[in-house]
Amino acid sequence: MSNQQVTELDAAQKFIYTRTNIRRAFNDFDDTDIADIYLQGEDCLILRRDGSQQTYNREPIKVAYTSYTHRLKDFFSYLGPNYRGPSVWHNNAYVLFKGWYYSHALGHLTPNARLQAAWADRFIHLNDVQKVTALLQSDQADLGHLIAPDGLRAQDMPIDFNSSLDTVEDVKPIFGEPWCSCGSYQQQLNNISSFSQEIEGFKPWCIHLSWFNKYREMLSKRTEARNQAPNGTPSKCVAWWYQPPSDHLSDGLFKVLYTTYGAQAPVSHWRNYKPDEHFTQNHAWDLFFNMMEAGYVPFPGRSLPQLQSVVKKQ
Ligand SMILES: [Zn+2]
Repeated sequence: MSNQQVTELDAAQKFIYTRTNIRRAFNDFDDTDIADIYLQGEDCLILRRDGSQQTYNREPIKVAYTSYTHRLKDFFSYLGPNYRGPSVWHNNAYVLFKGWYYSHALGHLTPNARLQAAWADRFIHLNDVQKVTALLQSDQADLGHLIAPDGLRAQDMPIDFNSSLDTVEDVKPIFGEPWCSCGSYQQQLNNISSFSQEIEGFKPWCIHLSWFNKYREMLSKRTEARNQAPNGTPSKCVAWWYQPPSDHLSDGLFKVLYTTYGAQAPVSHWRNYKPDEHFTQNHAWDLFFNMMEAGYVPFPGRSLPQLQSVVKKQ
């Protein structure tokens, strides 16, 4: 038995050394019958209800915590009505919708999805961070989050448009780091000194920031692929559809058609991509990036009228 001092978990350590994170780090960890979790030197000390104790090295648990907060959720996790991506809001921030529409075959009928549709274009009329956050994250609505991947800017002040531009001060962010309104991010931010002591080089992060960055990278790759085509009219195109799962246990169906005759090509000029394979929402990111790498430009299938009949049949 080590004679190093046993200490209780501080604010940050309580989020890191949880039974789920210990299980993520150690496959054989039995997370039942735990009385309490302490720290002892380099280890996490597990006290069982029967009085027995075990130790687990802290390092892999920190790694598990970090990779969990940085994980990339599937492409449809944060799309709003009509595959709407993050919507520009004020202060360099965006409204990020939870993917209620795509969670389930009847997802579009849920109260959350209906509220999203009703509110999607109205958030821009509110300009208070607290108010928008409260509305997005209320227990009843749970519509999404406010996110500022390039830092949150102070609210705009009234301007005299006839004054000289030379006197304009630099735009200073009120918070220069990537920011998100979600609970996980805010917990990290509120306990940042304690997190920084525990994890070297710590920066608050969340799954929404990971998703946003990936989405933005995808848009820029798409523009790139499009710009490489003569007159910005690509001949290599992909049309995609998504059919959410019919129950909460299975995966959805991600369907891809491709052509080398341009997005407006008639139905006769399109083919299934890898017809023998079954793609789900978990394949979407990789498929998008691979197709753009090969010079194909993706289009949501529903934006191509000539293909609607094909999809209904399948
Ligand atoms: Zn977040």
